[in-house]
Amino acid sequence: HAKRSGRGRVVVYSREMEEAAKRVTRIEQALRRAVSAGEVEPHFQPIVDLRTRRIIGFETLARWTDGDLGSVPATVFIPIAEERGIIGPLSQLVLRKAAEAARSWPKDLFLSFNLSPSQLVDQNTGLHILATLDRTGFDPRRLEIEITETGLMNDPASAEKIVENLRRVGIRVALDDFGTGQSSLGRLREFHFDKLKIDRAFVSSILDDRPSEHIIRAILAMCEGLGMDVVTEGIEQEAQAERLVQFGCAGGQGFLFGRPVDADATLGYLRDSFRGALRVKAI
Ligand code: C2E
Ligand code: MG
Ligand code: MG
Ligand code: MG
Repeated sequence: HAKRSGRGRVVVYSREMEEAAKRVTRIEQALRRAVSAGEVEPHFQPIVDLRTRRIIGFETLARWTDGDLGSVPATVFIPIAEERGIIGPLSQLVLRKAAEAARSWPKDLFLSFNLSPSQLVDQNTGLHILATLDRTGFDPRRLEIEITETGLMNDPASAEKIVENLRRVGIRVALDDFGTGQSSLGRLREFHFDKLKIDRAFVSSILDDRPSEHIIRAILAMCEGLGMDVVTEGIEQEAQAERLVQFGCAGGQGFLFGRPVDADATLGYLRDSFRGALRVKAI
């Protein structure tokens, strides 16, 4: 009997894997269709000056709702898009729509845009970004690209070439999710980043955890020395924001200030920001 149940478990396990693989393929096919049909949308999350609570820019985050699958989280469809070679066209679509929307926003606001690791080994990435900005008439000096350390590891020389070409026209480069994954301080010597985004893992424990506090303070000191801007991600509580201001962190992002919303709703954020009302709205 034991044997049989053992074998049964193996069968169940492989069936689960088969189901998972089927689901990935289903998402892949639906996503391909959605990208060709132009159905992936940019949403925008405010990035604020922590002291004044005024919006200084927005991060672009891809959103996709399928007729059958419903709303699929970016954490699910972005990795599939990467693995299955859809990230290039998806990225172009989202950047084009984002640039079209952000074109009419106040000129002092920046727009940030995420690049996946696989895009940093493909020299077409830079060309596509420049072509998209050109076509939409979006000022490259208002664009910031967010890359992760993982994205730099595969082929650092290739990534550097792409980044250099983008920087030449004024696009800024941010290191995203800093403090997670394969963090290496050496990378900060080899590569110049305009901005560093501290991962939300540190923020969630900043109020009750001494190590997180010390780590954030050390990162802030390092950024100041290296001349990098800083944004702390994942701020959900007022007390976290206040603590970060005490530490001297200038930039913040998180549900406290606003969730990612579509282009229309973003105009509401802009109105609130100009009235200085983001603080009130957040509570
Ligand atoms: P990311 O670039 O680190 O983006 C920040 C993520 O944190 C977003 O998740 C955002 O919704 C979430 N977030 C923001 N504030 C808070 C907060 O206060 N609390 C919590 N718990 N979460 C917060 P999202 O939109 O699900 O995106 C996940 C990841 O997918 C992104 O991480 C990014 O790596 C990737 N991604 C999203 N859109 C794109 C895209 O257009 N292109 C590429 N290549 N990657 C994208
Ligand atoms: Mg990001
Ligand atoms: Mg991030
Ligand atoms: Mg992330």
